[in-house]
Amino acid sequence: MHVTMVKKRLASGEPCEKCAQAEEMLRRRDLWERIDEVLWAVEGEADSPGLVVARKHGIELAPFFVVRDEEGQETIVTSTLRLVKQHLATPARDMPSSAAPLDVEHAARELEGAEPETILRFALEQFGERCPIAFSGGEEVVLLDMATRSGLPFRVFTLDTGRLHDETYEYLDEVRRRYGCEIEVVLPDTDEVTALLRAKGPNSFLRDGHGECCAIRKLRPLGRALRHADAWITGTRRDGRPTADAPVIQRDPVFRGASDPLVRFQPLAAWSRLDVFDTIRRHDVPAHPLFGAGYAHIGCLPCTRPRDESGAPDRWWWEDEAEAPERPDPGGGI
Ligand code: SF4
Repeated sequence: MHVTMVKKRLASGEPCEKCAQAEEMLRRRDLWERIDEVLWAVEGEADSPGLVVARKHGIELAPFFVVRDEEGQETIVTSTLRLVKQHLATPARDMPSSAAPLDVEHAARELEGAEPETILRFALEQFGERCPIAFSGGEEVVLLDMATRSGLPFRVFTLDTGRLHDETYEYLDEVRRRYGCEIEVVLPDTDEVTALLRAKGPNSFLRDGHGECCAIRKLRPLGRALRHADAWITGTRRDGRPTADAPVIQRDPVFRGASDPLVRFQPLAAWSRLDVFDTIRRHDVPAHPLFGAGYAHIGCLPCTRPRDESGAPDRWWWEDEAEAPERPDPGGGI
């Protein structure tokens, strides 16, 4: 297989931004060396090699790729992500390395103390894309960065409760662009939300506690998202109550998946918040802008606020935390 990338250069001599982003994405996935040839389409120079190829194939946008197989058959690919998924990901990387069921307890013992990258790679090699990463728009962004650097295919989903901060929607777009990945958006059931709104209005959590609203907007959608998965990856850490004893791998204590058990990977279990932000800095990972405004939790707009020095709750602060029952951590940034 021979892959040609056609990149655009502006009349000013600058490369086009989209082409630069595509190259960056391929480099991050360690796939840049799989591009055999780069042809420049120079704005205003009809005879530049890239424009000649673009005319030949009737393409008017950049970048695009020409993939030639062993028989000389050419395929035009206009999406970098599609190129990665359909032409550059080897079958061995797409498929789990073993068809045997995972011995969860043994794997947890073996990987306790391992670096998060190692645990994440293990998850993706075992389960491939049947093991999505749950991304709330928060600190788990480091998992997306690690997954991208692993060069393995991965899936990401996020829960859109309908009550998120505007900054979160913008941030999700930034992360999509940065890592060139799709982020599957999981929504609550419309009928359930409508029934709650009709019966109790938009802010029932202020009177009744957050349990009912969270169940409709977060927990049940998450359960539905996991129904077809064999495993999933969360950003759960031990330094966050009530997850002080979270193992790096476990049978999911809350949700059921396509197979039994649903395996839950927590590569960041042993990390502190400091470790996460150190990684964000070292790898120039895009961080949610609200972290810079004092937020520790990125959740729904009406239910989160910046942390202050008093140590007062920054989520659901109107509820009596002292009397709130201990509940298992559902994961997924909930
Ligand atoms: S965090 Fe607040 S708005 Fe979001 S689902 Fe829970 S109760 Fe509803």
